[in-house]
Amino acid sequence: MAGGNATAGREEGAGDGAPVAAYRGEILHFVGDPAVLGDAAHRHHADGVLVVRDGRVAVAGAAHEVLPTLPPATQVIDYRGKLIMPGFVDTHVHYAQTDVIASYGAQLLDWLERYTYPAEARFADPAHAAEVAAFFVRELLANGTTTAMVFATSHPASVDAIFAAGEARSMRLVAGKVLMDRNVPESVRDTADGGFDDSCALIERWHGRGRLAYAVTPRFAPTSTDRQLALCGRLLDEHRGVFLQSHVAENRGEVAWVAELFPWSRSYLDVYDHYGLLRERAVYAHCIHLDAHDRRRMAESGAAMSFCPTSNLFLGSGLFDLPAAADSGVRVGLGTDIGGGTSLSMLRTLDEAYKVTHMAGHALAPLSAFHLATLGGAASLRLDDRIGSLETGKEADFIVLDPAATPLLARRIERAETLAERLFALMILGDDRAVHATYVLGRRVHTRART
Ligand SMILES: [Zn+2]
Repeated sequence: MAGGNATAGREEGAGDGAPVAAYRGEILHFVGDPAVLGDAAHRHHADGVLVVRDGRVAVAGAAHEVLPTLPPATQVIDYRGKLIMPGFVDTHVHYAQTDVIASYGAQLLDWLERYTYPAEARFADPAHAAEVAAFFVRELLANGTTTAMVFATSHPASVDAIFAAGEARSMRLVAGKVLMDRNVPESVRDTADGGFDDSCALIERWHGRGRLAYAVTPRFAPTSTDRQLALCGRLLDEHRGVFLQSHVAENRGEVAWVAELFPWSRSYLDVYDHYGLLRERAVYAHCIHLDAHDRRRMAESGAAMSFCPTSNLFLGSGLFDLPAAADSGVRVGLGTDIGGGTSLSMLRTLDEAYKVTHMAGHALAPLSAFHLATLGGAASLRLDDRIGSLETGKEADFIVLDPAATPLLARRIERAETLAERLFALMILGDDRAVHATYVLGRRVHTRART
């Protein structure tokens, strides 16, 4: 219920639980990459209707075409004046770092030691893990994020907690236990063989259960021994369809450290390549200090990059080169990277993505930005056959954005003349206040409370 505001009556029930429901409003989604297909990449209906049947998209089209086809008793939820689009896909985030967001004054390696490892050590306690996981999932949904690729900690209980929280909302989550068997405090350290066994058990328990999928999760090369990295390759070889998530080339000090630890490697990325960790469904956060050879290698291996602009700026790491990534043909998604990142909002993240790419002399077009946050992210996770758009048959994860969420946003949007201008205002000025409602598999899981 949207209770207490002027639209409560018209949003009554908001489609919850009905086998068929229809949502009327402005609709936008992508069927391809605007950089490749231009205007043919998106579908836009100024007055549209999205029909959901049994948790899947039945059709999304113009209201005058879809409304006459609906069975007479169909509930039509009125979102006119608002923008309906697919839920956001966050391709890199650490739920266990929720409580270290906004920690002052450190770059990556120092930040890990000073803030992150002590926070992650607390996740040995299943009750703490469950409490943080529940908060984190609520916040994701409040920000319009319906799919996320998530780092837990090195403690198996932390993985159980985030999967259980996602499962309770039927969310599509990819997550895994952090593997790190050296160069970290004992409270968060595992062993190569212990980490392997724990990962096998967690894959058995969670991978493919409902909408959940497992990711083998070596934190980054400096905190894993050669044996642990080799075992990551074995985990991937022995469990088809399992993902991999890690970090690469985020910070110059880190890059230098990797060169010391792996003197035989051509580059940081080459370490992962050596152990067979560049492949489809492998997602690497940051990818800042890479060369053209590395980018080519990522593209040909099928691995993907997660662009995490708020984190890269906050930790002083560097500027991701989106045009170079696009030229190489590698898949790119967007990540919030909490707690190095500073917001779980993909709108705030797009704002910073725009600024980072602008520093490199390239203006990120609004349609490309929203593609990156939806279908592009889904494609980087190779889930674009199921999520990321409102094409018929897709899982009905969608959000309702309110272009009048704040006085300033409303004022700017009123003066915008094109769809692109309005999208740009939303990504530069918007945040969780602009997310009016979030739906997962056609069920409303978040409604913004009026203040
Ligand atoms: Zn990260």
